[in-house]
Amino acid sequence: MRKKLIAANWKMYKTPDQTREFFREFLPAVSGHDRDEIVVCTPDIDLAAGIEAVKGTQVAVGAQNVHWKTEGAFTGETSTTMLLALGVTHVIIGHSERRQYFCETDDTVNMRLKAALEAGLTPICCVGEVLEEREAGSTDDVLRRQCVRAFHAISAKKAGNLVVAYEPVWAIGTGKTATPEIAAEAHMVIRREAAEIFGEDFAAKLRILYGGSVKPENASVLMAQEEIDGALVGGASLDAKSFAAIVKY
Ligand code: PEP
Repeated sequence: MRKKLIAANWKMYKTPDQTREFFREFLPAVSGHDRDEIVVCTPDIDLAAGIEAVKGTQVAVGAQNVHWKTEGAFTGETSTTMLLALGVTHVIIGHSERRQYFCETDDTVNMRLKAALEAGLTPICCVGEVLEEREAGSTDDVLRRQCVRAFHAISAKKAGNLVVAYEPVWAIGTGKTATPEIAAEAHMVIRREAAEIFGEDFAAKLRILYGGSVKPENASVLMAQEEIDGALVGGASLDAKSFAAIVKY
């Protein structure tokens, strides 16, 4: 039985004050909810406010990226050491917006992933095809390639906390959601690849989230799929009521 993980990705939205305001409304709405694991991945500037707000609750706070070195002359970057010092537990890695706009490659995803796992953070590693790849029938190859490269030289023992998010790029922020069947098929491809790389036992326990225009209205049909182990939610996670409704699908 895999406990579902419902993760918010705030992208580049909200100030520390807006973060406190969000949690003032969100925390009472999900109080006592332990069917699913809940994490809110904020911009780095909001992490401290978020962590302060969730103290004593079952809600975790995550980052949206992390560098692979623990310190150094890397202007503008944040390390695993820094995240851990704040109390961050989760980190999104390889989001398609980072791949698209910030030169993220499969190799840098692999380096970030290794660093996050080494530090004991729970990485949420994003994979997913763009529309042209889906239309060309190459979705499965793209997902396999992204997994092989992201997981390169990581042993099943080291990959313990790994979470994967299947995020078809054509469904992110577009209002177009993959049907539960499309998502489940992609998840099976990812799980098979994880079995090849890490072994069957690891793959059976691996949580694979779906992300792409998840909203309160479609969360329950998506979450009803056995293959879908939670959601990575962008736009609809910015509003406390809407994210709470998704958590309670
Ligand atoms: C995301 O940012 O990971 C995402 C899935 O965004 P949205 O829910 O807005 O499509």
